[in-house]
Amino acid sequence: MGKKANPETMGFQTEVRQLLHLMIHSLYSNKEIFLRELISNASDAVDKLRFEALANPDLLTGDSELNIRVVLDKEAKTIAITDNGIGMSRDDLIENLGTIAKSGTADFLQQMTGDDKKDAQLIGQFGVGFYSSFIVADKVVVETRRADLEATDAVRWESDGQGEFTVEPIEREERGTTVTLHLKESEAEFSEALRLETLIRKYSDHIAFPVLLEDTTDDEKGSRTVNSATALWMRSRSEIDDDEYKEFYKYLSHDFVDPLIWSHNRVEGKREYTSLLYIPAQAPFDLWNREAPRGLKLYVQRVFIMDDAEQFLPLYLRFVKGVIDASDLPLNVSRELLQNNPQLAAMKTAMTRRILDMLAKLAGAESKEGREIYQKFWKEFGQVIKEGVVEDSQNTDKLMKLLRFTTTHSEGDRQDQSLSDYVGRAAPEQDKIYYLLADNHATAKSSPHLEQLTKNGIEVLLLADRIDPWMVDHLSEFEGKSFQDVGRGQLPLPEGDGAVTQETMNEEYKPLLKKVQKKLKDRIATVNVSQRLIDSPACVVTAEQDLTPQLRRMLEASGQQLPDSKPNFEINVEHPLVQRLATEKDDERFGQLSNILLDHALLAEGAQLENPAAYVQRMNSLLLELDAHGTK
Ligand code: ADP
Repeated sequence: MGKKANPETMGFQTEVRQLLHLMIHSLYSNKEIFLRELISNASDAVDKLRFEALANPDLLTGDSELNIRVVLDKEAKTIAITDNGIGMSRDDLIENLGTIAKSGTADFLQQMTGDDKKDAQLIGQFGVGFYSSFIVADKVVVETRRADLEATDAVRWESDGQGEFTVEPIEREERGTTVTLHLKESEAEFSEALRLETLIRKYSDHIAFPVLLEDTTDDEKGSRTVNSATALWMRSRSEIDDDEYKEFYKYLSHDFVDPLIWSHNRVEGKREYTSLLYIPAQAPFDLWNREAPRGLKLYVQRVFIMDDAEQFLPLYLRFVKGVIDASDLPLNVSRELLQNNPQLAAMKTAMTRRILDMLAKLAGAESKEGREIYQKFWKEFGQVIKEGVVEDSQNTDKLMKLLRFTTTHSEGDRQDQSLSDYVGRAAPEQDKIYYLLADNHATAKSSPHLEQLTKNGIEVLLLADRIDPWMVDHLSEFEGKSFQDVGRGQLPLPEGDGAVTQETMNEEYKPLLKKVQKKLKDRIATVNVSQRLIDSPACVVTAEQDLTPQLRRMLEASGQQLPDSKPNFEINVEHPLVQRLATEKDDERFGQLSNILLDHALLAEGAQLENPAAYVQRMNSLLLELDAHGTK
């Protein structure tokens, strides 16, 4: 295909338009971050070139000193950022600077509120990137040539950030990219050399390549290197202050909120590597997309190898950001090789432990502020840590200490209690940790299953997250206490006198139980006199071997066919309604009342009635009867 001589005009993808619009407004108070984003892109491009040059050294010919140059032209009011990195082809350019590839972006943008402060937080989770240039520039020009293409294959991209951009072929001798920002009238501050230099140093001191600044109106100074050009993770911990660590995190993650905590370590000996791992303060918008890119930036002896190296951490730690620089992996290591590298398993174990220890430190804070910080972490990432309980049985003990629950002691539905808190409050003879599964907090809180326990002052974990039924399946014991589902099987209470077995309890009510069983035989497995109930007349209980109703509902909703299962039914023989039932002589009415008791027990537990219309009929005839009594 012949090249078009004239600029070709194209439209931004809808999501890009929305993002541009939002970004310009909501990030205005953080506007200088455009520099961080552009320097970060330039440094990635140089990293990628160095990586490709391992296999193809010709790419470096004629220009082997990798660097980033910033040229300030005060008169023209432009800042140009040039890298001699990998560059982009025409297709790359259109794809990279005209669309957003992250899946879920459209949904994400829907959540924007129009409140700049809140939106700024949200965009932070998204990662800002190149488009942030338009916060300060009313025109951006990108000229680029991919390192492995000819000078005549270079391209120029230009946009005012309003909805369209143009692309045209150009000639460019040198490989790499120049991004030129034409500053808005109002952004004169960035054309002050000193201000620019300070910002560039702040945003680039930790990257491994020299960043040079040239001020075209100041011949004397020429161009000078403004950063120290040593990769941050290679410096010793004692030389790095917190601000530098935070800045490096933002550079890595494109997040602009500080991380919660980090851990920087050099491992020496048989396997040598340096890792710098960060826990973000807020979850990325695509945390729930298990396919989203994740993982660490991998370097081998300071040479960038790949982004999103997911082999170093388990899936549930997908929110961790950071760098790993391994000394003894081969430079030509690929994803496939990583998959099969025996060294890696050991590194993965060690890094997982490091992160869990870091979180344990955060979780163990005694001070009020410390607890709040962990609470914040839990709110953002607790669900993912619960996945860890399911997926990583090697670390169950560490993970259990990180869990936080809403319990009958919590303030509202805050997940603010640890298992140690629970055990600390339990009576010494209580050998179980009681939990209740429900579809949501309100159902849990008012569940009939809690009645006897609450009366006895026994705390119960209220589990209403989607993952909870799976998670509790993987919890066997904590500090010698086993876990007990209060909605399942028999419920022996700690202080209850062990002599009263279910059989003895049932003995006295045998005829009643038999009649109820007969009437409800299609809907229940068994019926027993309840030991759990105080205020409610009846409840349903999961049989010892059955799936919990929550899990069953979820599996069914996802289209799975499950074998039928009937719940156990329990009645509270102290309750007036049950006593009324016991005295009912009319067989049909007895059946109706029994069914209604069961309907209500199911509704209280959050179930959907199999035949709601039948229930409504039963209720209606009862109400009519009530009326007949009333008017008698
Ligand atoms: P992100 O950096 O988060 O991927 P950006 O919007 O900043 O998002 O950039 C989109 C893509 O454009 C980058 O992933 C990269 O492939 C490409 N790109 C941006 N700047 C450069 C550059 N200076 N050199 C080469 N490619 C670049």
